[in-house]
Amino acid sequence: MSVNTLGHAVNQSTGETVAQFFGPPNAFSNEGDVLSRCLYHLSEVIIRGIQPDKRGGFLGGEFGYGADYENDVFLMHPDYQDVECDCGVSKLRERWDRHGGCVKTCFSRLCLKARKDAEKPYRAIIDWLCWGRNQLPWLSKETESWQRQIESFSKQERAAEAKAQADLAKQMGVGGGDAWACTCGGKERWAKWRELHPHAERCAIMLPNFWYKPNGLRITWYKWIGRDMKMKPATISGEEWGNLFHECLNSLPPDAVSKAKTEAEAEHVESNGPEYKEAQQAGMARMMEVLSAPESHGAPPEKRVCNTCKKVEFGPPSWSTPLFWECDDCQKKRGAAIKRKAMKAARELGIVLNVVTA
Ligand SMILES: [Zn+2]
Ligand SMILES: [Zn+2]
Ligand SMILES: [Zn+2]
Repeated sequence: MSVNTLGHAVNQSTGETVAQFFGPPNAFSNEGDVLSRCLYHLSEVIIRGIQPDKRGGFLGGEFGYGADYENDVFLMHPDYQDVECDCGVSKLRERWDRHGGCVKTCFSRLCLKARKDAEKPYRAIIDWLCWGRNQLPWLSKETESWQRQIESFSKQERAAEAKAQADLAKQMGVGGGDAWACTCGGKERWAKWRELHPHAERCAIMLPNFWYKPNGLRITWYKWIGRDMKMKPATISGEEWGNLFHECLNSLPPDAVSKAKTEAEAEHVESNGPEYKEAQQAGMARMMEVLSAPESHGAPPEKRVCNTCKKVEFGPPSWSTPLFWECDDCQKKRGAAIKRKAMKAARELGIVLNVVTA
C-alpha cells in the first residue's frame, strides 16, 4: 500500500471534524508489520497501565506515537519533532556549521557564490514565467507555451551555473567536478573536530524512539510507530524479535500489565456491543452527509484577511478562495514586481523574452 493522503472532512456549520482519512503504513492498521504492531502494543500497555493521561493519539492510532518510558531493559519515547541537543555539542558546533569549517577563500564557498550569482537573473525570469503561467487556465494551450519557456530557461540556468563553476575551477586549478571541493583544509579540520566532540550517548537528539539496552538495538520512527521506521542493526530474525519483545513486556510492572489487559478487554467488549455499533452507524451516516456536499471539504470556517495587505476580508474557504489568501489587487501588484525584476534580468542577459501576454 502506498496511500499517503491525509485529510479530513469538516462540518461547515459547526466546524466539527466528522471524518479523518489516513493512509498506511501505520502500526494501527492491519497492514502494520509485526515489528510495528509489537511496538504499538508495548506503547499501549505502558499508556494503559502506567500513563493513562497520555492516551489519545490522532493519526497514528490511540497509542501510536509511542509511550515515554524507560527501565533497565528498554527505553521508548515519542518522536518529538522539536527536540534539541541538551549535551552542549550543538552549541559548540554552531561556529563550524555555517560553512563546514571552510574559510572565505575556499573553493567550496567561492563556488557556491559564483553559482548563485550565475543563477540569479534566470531565477528572476523563471519566477515571472511561473507566475504568468499560474494566471492562465489549467492545461490551456498558452500554459503549454509558458511551460516550454520555463523549461528552456531552467536548462539555461543550470548551464550558467555549471559554466560559472567550471570557470572558477579552472581559474583556481581545482580538478574534478565537485562543487564542494575544499581547498582550505577546513572540511578535514571540521571532520576531525566532530570525531573528537560527539553528542553524548544520552543527548536528546541521539536517543532513538526505541532502544533495547541489552544488545543496543535502536529503532526510530517519524511521528508515529510504523512510519519511516529505521532500525540499527538493519535486520533481526523473527525469533530474536519475539524474545526481545517479550523481555520488554516482562520488564514492566506486573500490576500495570494486568491493568492494561483488563482495560483493553473491557473496551473490546464495549466496542462490540450494540451501543458502540449504533454510534458507529450514526457517525457513518453523518460522514456520508458531509461528503456528499462538495463545499464542506476543507479547513474549519474562520475569518481571514488578505495575507499581504491585511485589509481585504474573505468569507469561509470555498473553491473560489484565492491561492495564498491574497486579494486581487495585491496579487496584481506582486505580479508586476515579479515582471519588472524579470525584465531587468533579461536586459542584463541581453535576452528578448518572447512570451507576450500576462
Ligand atoms: Zn547533544
Ligand atoms: Zn575549505
Ligand atoms: Zn490584499
